[in-house]
Amino acid sequence: MNEFKKYVKKTGDYHGHICFGIAMGTKTTLAAMKYHGLDPDVKNKNLIVYTEIDRCITDAIQVISRCTLSHRTLKYIDYGKFATTFVNLASGKVIRVTIRESCEINDAPKVVEKMAKLSESEVVNIQEVKVNIKEIDLPGIPKKRSYCSVCNEQITDGREVIADKRVLCRACANDKYYVEITKGK
Ligand SMILES: [Zn+2]
Ligand SMILES: [Zn+2]
Repeated sequence: MNEFKKYVKKTGDYHGHICFGIAMGTKTTLAAMKYHGLDPDVKNKNLIVYTEIDRCITDAIQVISRCTLSHRTLKYIDYGKFATTFVNLASGKVIRVTIRESCEINDAPKVVEKMAKLSESEVVNIQEVKVNIKEIDLPGIPKKRSYCSVCNEQITDGREVIADKRVLCRACANDKYYVEITKGK
């Protein structure tokens, strides 16, 4: 089986269906792994991936790169763009991969057939970039824990805010995304 089709099967199984985003994410990640000299079938500890969108493409990126939010190897940047940055901590090389506009098709069965025939460079654009990853954002055990002086909830990895010499969580310091209906027990 064509290498691309083999991985589309794997990413589609995880995602629940095969779509444009899954095909693009598969192509993007295979191109990036190749650039970094990494084998998608071997777990590696040196890859950090930044996805710029919370859509289908990100499931394919996760499955092939094996980078996940929970391992802190997948970072979500809310730009609403089909763009992904792959940081190789071992070599120091960083690339940002975008999709060439000419490849946008929304017909799932056709997209896989078309993508399988195209080379990676025909589908994606690779740009060399630099990313400054803070020590506190790297994988590994939590480097810091503190408690919010308002809600008393624990804050991990330096996400606290200091205001008027008080330690606050981001929810208490800024507008919360939720509205409290009851008090937690
Ligand atoms: Zn999808
Ligand atoms: Zn709080």
